[in-house]
Amino acid sequence: MINKVPSTKQNIPAKASQTLIDQFGRTVDYIRLSITDRCDFRCVYCMAEEMTFLPRNEVLSLEECARLVKVFVSLGVSKVRITGGEPLVRKNALWLFETIGKLDGLNELVLTTNGSQLEKQAQDLKNAGVKRINISVDSLNPERFKKITRTGELDKVLRGIQAAKLAGFENIKLNTVLMRGVNDDEALSLLDFAIAQKIDISFIEEMPLGDVDHSRESSFCSNTDTLKMLQSKHTLTASAETTGGPARYWRVANTETRVGFISPHSHNFCESCNRVRITCKGELYLCLGQEDKVDLMPLLRDHPENDQPLIDAILSSMAIKPKGHDFDLKRAEPAVIRFMSHTGG
Ligand code: SAM
Ligand code: SF4
Repeated sequence: MINKVPSTKQNIPAKASQTLIDQFGRTVDYIRLSITDRCDFRCVYCMAEEMTFLPRNEVLSLEECARLVKVFVSLGVSKVRITGGEPLVRKNALWLFETIGKLDGLNELVLTTNGSQLEKQAQDLKNAGVKRINISVDSLNPERFKKITRTGELDKVLRGIQAAKLAGFENIKLNTVLMRGVNDDEALSLLDFAIAQKIDISFIEEMPLGDVDHSRESSFCSNTDTLKMLQSKHTLTASAETTGGPARYWRVANTETRVGFISPHSHNFCESCNRVRITCKGELYLCLGQEDKVDLMPLLRDHPENDQPLIDAILSSMAIKPKGHDFDLKRAEPAVIRFMSHTGG
């Protein structure tokens, strides 16, 4: 059963008197919160085939997630992305969306999902205040889709995309991780699918997060090559749009579609980084590619009625947000041991 979120009104000024500015002058106004490490898929680049998931009491409760988001919003955060694992497999996830969807000061509530539950949940999520939604699709070939996700059904995800379109989100974007020799030959057909659906698509370079069954270096597929391939068929115009993150956008001439290229190996975006990540264990990671973190769970649990220790910890974490990340595909060991499903994509 879901309890009421403990009121933080008495502890937090209605309007942020302090905002999150790091030692390099970057304002943090965007959090990505992973609400579960569990998933119904086992994508080859994201998880090992056999995964051990966290016991329930080591994962933030939905009430703790809501309280955290409320505190961050009071500190000037205006954009929240809910992710995972697969956020929509978490029981009662909708309650969280409905609760944070009502927060004053939160302008953008967005979601990253594998799409498997959207057929059932898209409309409720839209009604709860989710504005935009990213849906991960790495192949349009059902057998290949199954091979990449190990357990996923492409048809179900395609029905989820249709449900999301009907629900009327402000924006729907596909996320595709391209891997050399696995699905890099589908870049054009995935873009054509996005164009036909009148939605956006981003191609993501694989990141060396967690130890998986293949060599990251041999599967690496550079966005520079992908861009060239797409340009062989479409006219792409660079767009000035930026999210402060690692994505660069291009408009596809004569279509409604934008193509994003997420190149985490490039350092170019670190200077404008406006985000931090919170794992489902309540660890505040200041950078996706670094280990600097602050454990927020003890502060949540030791001070159920007082947000000040949490606020102090979040404010002082700004001093350790690193200048940039450090991914190196040639390393034998992954640069970062944790899986993306743990940190939240
Ligand atoms: N389960 C949801 C999904 O797949 O969209 C949300 C969580 S998933 C970790 C978020 C995003 O991270 C997905 O688009 C996924 O493709 C991407 N991702 C996972 N592991 C990755 C890796 N090692 N490198 C690059 N992207 C990765
Ligand atoms: Fe699950 Fe998303 Fe990771 Fe795939 S990428 S295994 S769908 S968390």
